[in-house]
Formats: sequence, C-alpha cells, structure tokens
Amino acid sequence: MKDLYLLKIGGSVITDLSKPNTVASGPVTIGTLLGEAYEAYSSGGFDLIIGHGSGSFGHVAAAQYKVNEGLAYSNSKLMALITHMTAKQLDDILIGEGIKLEIPLYPFSPANFSVADNGELGDGFCSHIAEAIEKGFIPVVYGDVVMDRSKGVSIASTEKVLDFIAREIKPKKVLYGSDTDGVFTANPKEHPDAEHIKAIDSSNIEQALENTGVSKTRVDVTGGMETKLAKLYETCKHTGAEGYIFNITRPGMLKAMLLGVANPEFYTVVRA
Ligand code: ADP
Repeated sequence: MKDLYLLKIGGSVITDLSKPNTVASGPVTIGTLLGEAYEAYSSGGFDLIIGHGSGSFGHVAAAQYKVNEGLAYSNSKLMALITHMTAKQLDDILIGEGIKLEIPLYPFSPANFSVADNGELGDGFCSHIAEAIEKGFIPVVYGDVVMDRSKGVSIASTEKVLDFIAREIKPKKVLYGSDTDGVFTANPKEHPDAEHIKAIDSSNIEQALENTGVSKTRVDVTGGMETKLAKLYETCKHTGAEGYIFNITRPGMLKAMLLGVANPEFYTVVRA
C-alpha cells in the first residue's frame, strides 16, 4: 500500500462566509483545488482522502439551529436533519465539480460510519473507505451532524472525522489547508506583525495553542484555529503522522504540499 495522505480543505476557503449557503467565487475555487490535488495524486506517489469543511453551509445552519446542544428542544431533530442536509449540499457541489473534472471521488458521511459519545467520535468503521482507496477512488468526507449516545446528536467537525479515520487507517501525512501561511504567534488577520511559526512540537505546542485563540470574526461552530491545531497535534500523537497547516489559497500550493516540494514559508509543520 502507498503512503496515505489526509487532506482537509477549509470551509472558509471554498465558501463565502459572508453569505449563507454560498460557494466562494474565486480566484481559488473547489474546481481549481480539486484539479491541483488530482494532478499531484496522478503522480502515483500516494493515496488520498479529502475532507472538506462546511463554511457558510453547515456552520450557519448548525449555529442557527443550536445543533451543538444536542436534542435539547422540541424541534431539535428536524433542525439536526436540516443541518445535515445543508452540509451534504456543499458535499454534493464538491463531488459534482469532481465529476466535471473526471476525478474519481467518492463521498462518505461520518453520520454513516460512526457514532459519537458526548461529541467524540467513537465506535464505527472505515473498512469501506479503505476499500474505496484500494479500488482507486479518492474518498471524500466532511463535517456533519452525527448520532450521539449522550447528547442525542452532535457535530463531528471535519478535523474530528479525519482524526477518527487516521486512527483506523494510519496516514503518513495529515494536511490542513486554510487561508493563512500556517500558524502565527497571533492571528495574522488581526495582527499584521505576527510571526510565522515554522514548526510545532512538544516544546512549543502549549504556546502555539495560546496564540491561536478562537477568532471572533468568523462563524465557526467547530472552534477556529485553536481547536484545529489541538486536534491535529492529537492526531499526530496517536498515529505518528506528520501534520501540516498550510495556505491552500496560494495558487499551486496544494499541489506542491502533496508532492512535498512546497515553500516552508507558507506552512507550519506539526510533529507530536
Ligand atoms: P478553515 O479554513 O478550516 O475554515 P478557520 O477559518 O476556522 O479555518 O481558521 C483559520 C483562521 O484562524 C485564519 O484565517 C485566522 O484568521 C485564524 N487564526 C487565529 N489565530 C491564528 C494564528 N495564531 N495563526 C494562524 N491563523 C489564526
């Protein structure tokens, strides 16, 4: 079996966060990103699973319908369903773009392969995903509303879903594509003088987590950069994978990351 890479495409990159249920208009689009990923994949050097965030699709619905509170209200079940369908809509769009480009993607929702307990993905299975890889597909997963033993339902973020899969099918690399050149000493959107952090390991993870406090300017029911970094570090710790947070909005960057030839100024490497 080839090395397995797990790639996360940030929801804030492929959707317009200022408008609910709207795909980003460019210059970076779902199509350009899938094209880059597929070009790299076609080199034959690695297997790939893609996970994408929900951005202004699932996150707006999840926040509006208070899905994180589980089945707390009389209409919670319907709201969970609507949120699930909203997340699926973006997934359908992404898969549709893949079909146009003749890329053999295949979608898998975490609602269909795992049960959560108090927000943590627990028992489930990935053998069908492994089988899809074996057959030459690129499985696509996404953040979704899942059944939850304690809360009724909960949100499985894309990072949690990739972490769950990583524990089952050990990846070599886990790559999170977002809209900054990796992790900085402070949010670079609010602090232009923030410094780029080249590498994060056990010596500076605590400090880095402090520097990535939840952004107040974004709709993100799954927690912002701090939660993402914490989850990526955990995934690396449990699986031995190398993690990367990189700027997927730079043209050519995704392809270069997957081929292992990217400029280190535009990413942060995470080794637990
Ligand atoms: P996603 O691309 O997965 O949707 P988010 O938008 O939730 O990602 O998180 C990425 C955002 O986190 C960045 O655009 C940035 O504004 C914010 N952020 C906060 N603190 C930091 C930091 N220290 N370094 C990098 N990004 C940070």
